[in-house]
Amino acid sequence: MHREDFPILTQQVHGKPLVYLDNAATSQKPLCVLDAITEAYSTWNANIHRGTHHLSQVATAKHEEARTLLAQFIGANSSREVLFTRGTTEGLNMLAFCFGEAFIREGDEIIVSALEHHSNIVPWQMLCQRKQAVLKVIPLRDDLKLDLEAFSQLLNPRTKLVSVAHVSNVLGIINPVEEIIRIAHAHGVPVCIDGAQSAPHLPVDVRALDCDFFVCSAHKMYAPTGIGLLYGKEQWLNQLPPYQGGGEMIQHVSWQGTTYNELPYRFEAGTPDYVGSYAWSVAARYMQSCNIASIAAHEQELTAYAEQQLQQIAGIRIYAAGQPKAGVLSFNIYDGAGKLIHPFDLGALLDQQGVAVRIGHHCAEPLMTTLQIPGTVRVSFALYNTRDEVDRFITALRRSLDILL
Ligand code: PLP
Repeated sequence: MHREDFPILTQQVHGKPLVYLDNAATSQKPLCVLDAITEAYSTWNANIHRGTHHLSQVATAKHEEARTLLAQFIGANSSREVLFTRGTTEGLNMLAFCFGEAFIREGDEIIVSALEHHSNIVPWQMLCQRKQAVLKVIPLRDDLKLDLEAFSQLLNPRTKLVSVAHVSNVLGIINPVEEIIRIAHAHGVPVCIDGAQSAPHLPVDVRALDCDFFVCSAHKMYAPTGIGLLYGKEQWLNQLPPYQGGGEMIQHVSWQGTTYNELPYRFEAGTPDYVGSYAWSVAARYMQSCNIASIAAHEQELTAYAEQQLQQIAGIRIYAAGQPKAGVLSFNIYDGAGKLIHPFDLGALLDQQGVAVRIGHHCAEPLMTTLQIPGTVRVSFALYNTRDEVDRFITALRRSLDILL
């Protein structure tokens, strides 16, 4: 699918054609996005808002048009509900801080799940430490799906917020977030969805989901690094205090005190990444032009094909085998004596053959502890990957095993 739009993919690595299967970590960027960055810096770069001169007005319009487009992209009611951040991690830290200041008191409870990325764990742990609140964890069932019965039992009058991943960055499982939101709302509890791994792979509609907050990162969506968004329902954002102080987030400043700007600027202190927002809007339009449902179908087909090929390998253990996955697949291989072949060894040998995969705990150490493994090998797909690349990956994996065993 549109592979020719991605110049980086034509290169050789260690003398072999690159097979890039590390898209869950970050995706490659199409020419239209690279061109957008060059265009911005060569033709209209100027600091935005407050500027009366022409370039500043053009830059401001590009930034705000990008916000409007991204609001539509995720199905938000209004662009006021889209706050630009540095990425998913900053969005979650921002929410933990602001929501924590407004609503969390000693003894309150926050719920996350057992398969979260560290960025949806640590900010909540820090908040709980600050406020003497308690972090509760939705456990996994044997098939590695979230245990929704246990989740229902965790909810109680002290529960103030639920924050869960839409798609697991390790297992690729699509969590039943609609049901989680329905159950939480029945108890009057708001829900934050970590969309870092869903926004690149699935059509996202925050209004249809009815989530209260949603976070994602541009760099996993064919756009540049350093920008992301925190979506929040307006009625929630209006109740939260600012995150950082500085320029842009204020209405008036005097020695007597400061009054704050309206949404979304109240949460955006300092010069925003207006080139990043513009390039992200170009990437989002690019995804739309490829048809996001078609991207999802293509990636799910590649994931299923890779899983089927991997199943032929002796000693393979695929996590969440047989379950639908959004472009992410994790596995380990055990030798004839049942000993784990270390993912690092496989990763290094695959790299020597031009195949880029990710190995390790994938910033999900608690999940690794549950699975009782040090890490996995993870392959993850994007719209430009092909069945031929899956075949080359499998051939390289078999060669690696020949060397190791
Ligand atoms: N949440 C999930 C599920 C992720 O996969 C990632 C990144 O891999 C993050 C959060 C953090 O994203 P970022 O590093 O872009 O802030």
